[in-house]
Amino acid sequence: MRVAMYYNNNDIRIEDMPKPTIGKGELLVKAMACGICGSDVMEWYRIKKAPRVLGHEMAGVVAESEGTQFKIGDRVFVSHHVPCGSCHYCRNDHHTACETLHKTNFDPGGFAEFIRVPEINVKSGVYLLPSNVSFEQATFIEPLACVLRAQKLAKIKKGDTILVLGSGISGVLHIQLAKLYGAKIFATDINEYRITMAKKFGADYILNAKENIPAKLMESNGRLADHVIVCAGALSAAKQALQCADRGGTILYFAVPEPGIDLNIPINDFWRNEIRIMTSYGAGPDDLKEALKLISNSKINVNDMITHSLGLAETGIGFKLVAGAGNSMKVIIKPQE
Ligand SMILES: [Zn+2]
Ligand SMILES: [Zn+2]
Repeated sequence: MRVAMYYNNNDIRIEDMPKPTIGKGELLVKAMACGICGSDVMEWYRIKKAPRVLGHEMAGVVAESEGTQFKIGDRVFVSHHVPCGSCHYCRNDHHTACETLHKTNFDPGGFAEFIRVPEINVKSGVYLLPSNVSFEQATFIEPLACVLRAQKLAKIKKGDTILVLGSGISGVLHIQLAKLYGAKIFATDINEYRITMAKKFGADYILNAKENIPAKLMESNGRLADHVIVCAGALSAAKQALQCADRGGTILYFAVPEPGIDLNIPINDFWRNEIRIMTSYGAGPDDLKEALKLISNSKINVNDMITHSLGLAETGIGFKLVAGAGNSMKVIIKPQE
């Protein structure tokens, strides 16, 4: 079978690999669509395991089944990471800190014609797609689930003022979800195209990230933000967030700078103003289920976020589009094309 082998952001090769054979309890899924995630182009994060086949936002059709839960022809979304459900972290709702979650994965990755789904993923990480959810829409289940988890942890609610720093794919999903919750949304970016997208998907106020954001918030909102959601990995965004939270507010690092970069926190100010700093990572099973429901009920507009749909041989072009952050939003690879 053909796979897109990742070496680095500028070197993705179409290679041949044996089609995986499945064992007891496993599935073979024919990959129909797989999204390129912002994290796929974070080179510091991915390069340590290269060469490998990436792709974790994958939907497809069951081609072979050695279990009883799913049958050939079922349309499914497959979660690459699944938690054990019973460890200390899972029992305390930190499913994404579970050791099992970090160790699990399907084989070899979503940018391949077929994937083998291990038994543990079959048991708790395969979701049947309702007939109204396309494979392309299903590639948003994972990214939306991560966003849902983050906003749940931050306890975002109606009337809150949200500031989204960085209006790429995750920023736009955050904007749409916060809008659904009834929040007032400020969004930033440095790229004109993304600023347009932020506006299109419901941000109430759009700011250029280079502006004085705290001053702009004071001007339009009378106070700073209740929740600052950092959706850009640049250190400048991580630092800017520290200036933008109101008293009692939250700073949520959804994206972070690379390892080795530390942040100086004005801890004394934060102490007397009860400002919380938090992070969120990945998605748990409940988040995935909820994300699927939101997509199926058309509560989140994912269709209009898709700017490119490419064949497997064009995976390299797709990576350049996502890494370049130019005039693109969601880039989807169709491994059968
Ligand atoms: Zn992702
Ligand atoms: Zn666990």
